[in-house]
Order: sequence, then structure tokens, then C-alpha cells
Amino acid sequence: MLYGALEAGGTKMICAVGNESGQILDQESIPTTTPDETMPKIIEYFKAKLSPELPEDDRIAALGIACFGPVDVRPKSKTYGNILYTPKIPWRNYPILQTLKDALNIPVAIDTDVNGSLLGEATWGCAQGLTDAVYFTIGTGIGMGAMSGGNLIHGMLHPEAGHLFLNRVPGDDYKGHCPSHGACFEGMASGPAVAERWGKPGKELADMPEVWELEAKYIAQALTDITFVLSPQKIILGGGIMSQTQLFPLIRKYLAEYINEYITTKELRNMNAYVSPAALNGNQGIMGAIKLAEMAAEAE
Ligand SMILES: [Zn+2]
Repeated sequence: MLYGALEAGGTKMICAVGNESGQILDQESIPTTTPDETMPKIIEYFKAKLSPELPEDDRIAALGIACFGPVDVRPKSKTYGNILYTPKIPWRNYPILQTLKDALNIPVAIDTDVNGSLLGEATWGCAQGLTDAVYFTIGTGIGMGAMSGGNLIHGMLHPEAGHLFLNRVPGDDYKGHCPSHGACFEGMASGPAVAERWGKPGKELADMPEVWELEAKYIAQALTDITFVLSPQKIILGGGIMSQTQLFPLIRKYLAEYINEYITTKELRNMNAYVSPAALNGNQGIMGAIKLAEMAAEAE
């Protein structure tokens, strides 16, 4: 069976066709500009994968969307599948799910980009076989996808663990970058926060250990809170900031220090596996969308 997958991002839309093994068989990237310009190209891509001229086995059976947020992922909501109050103004309130459903007439499922990445990792990556895991993307913004008891968590809308309130690290007087909260997790530790605090982007700060010491302390605080609240079996870290791989040992060290043996589990004893880089080479989001499509096809 073939599935359509859309990883809807703020700068590009990755359209793909994959199979039930998570293999990506075809892929195309379309720049995210306005819905008027971008959506017809996405529809054209997937319509070609539904063409009656194709043998039936070569047509996609469903579409999964892993979408940038905020997006309404509550199936019972009137605005289910709409992009909500995004700073990308042309996309505000845009009904991305319904538009694709109407255009393609196949089952379509949608979830957040971070839940999509987690689903990809839980199906084919480093969280296979786990029922409780979280995925953080730490880059331009900070977002978290979470799975509890085998189900992706949505809650009343969706979790926003990128905006956890953290303790200021002594000596750090940076005001914070979040327009809503100033010094929340994203305000202190996102890519733009690192760039503003230190005067240049993270990738130009690789050889300054103090940058990553501080960054690791904020990330480890957030991971401590999530470990206490959701009790995940694994925490996966992706996003541009995490390409600074020197962060991983520091985060693990501070996470262990902050938990301070308040909880002890076999997972926490193996900190290298507990805090893990994403394992699907940047394809976790699109592979998660393939899995979403499979789930949509099965739900029909
Ligand atoms: Zn915030």
C-alpha cells in the first residue's frame, strides 16, 4: 500500500509518497509562501499520485499531514485541521485539512509536526516499541510532541512544552526572546535566543563552551520537568540547535543532577539512551506523516 505524506513547515512543504515500511519512494519540496500559491502545487503533486492512469497499486490510499503549529488537531472541533493563530499571517485560520480532503477525496489525517516526528521515531526510529516518549525540536522555536500509553497527546489543544517556565541560571541576565513570556524555555534557549544573547548564531559559537554549558542547563531543566510530569521512557531531541552535538553529554549530566535520584528507573540509569538524538536523518517528520496516512486509511 502507498501513502501520501505532507510535512507542512513554515519555510517548505515536503510532499512525499511512502509505503507501510516507512520507505520514501518519491519526494518534492515546495516553498511555503501563501496558501493561494503553495496549495495548488501540493494538490497537483498528490493528484498525480491518484491518477486513474496509474495501476491501482501505485496510487496513494490516504494522506497524512504533519503540520506546523498552532494547528487544531481535535477531531470533534469545528475548526479541526485548521492552522490557527500563526505569525505567518496568510496561513492564519487556513483549513489545510479540509482543502486537501476536498481536493483529493481520500482519507486525510493531521497532527502537529512534533507529534509527526515522534510518531516517525516511535514507528521506525529510536523509540520503536515504546509507549511513552517525547520529542523536542529545539531550533527557531521549541516544540514538543508526546506519546503516553501509546497515544499521541493532544489535550485541550496541544501541549506547548516549548514555553515551560524555567529557573534563570545564576549570572544569566538575558531578558528572553519569547514575545508572550520573555524568559520561558523558548525565550531562553531557542536559536534566536542564543543568537541574541551571544551576538551571533549558534553555528558560529560552536567553539565557545560557555554557550553550550548554559544552553544545556536550560534544556536539562525542561527535560527534568517533562520527566517528572509525563514519565517518558525516552526523550528525543532534534532541531537546529541540537546539531551542536556537544550538547548531548552536557544535557545528560545536568538532567541526572537535577533529578538527583528522586526517581530511579532502568531507563534513567542508561542516560545515553534516555536522551537520544533523532535517528531518522531528518526524515522523522515525513515518515511520521506516512504513518498518519496509514492510520487514516485503517480508520476508514
Ligand atoms: Zn514563551
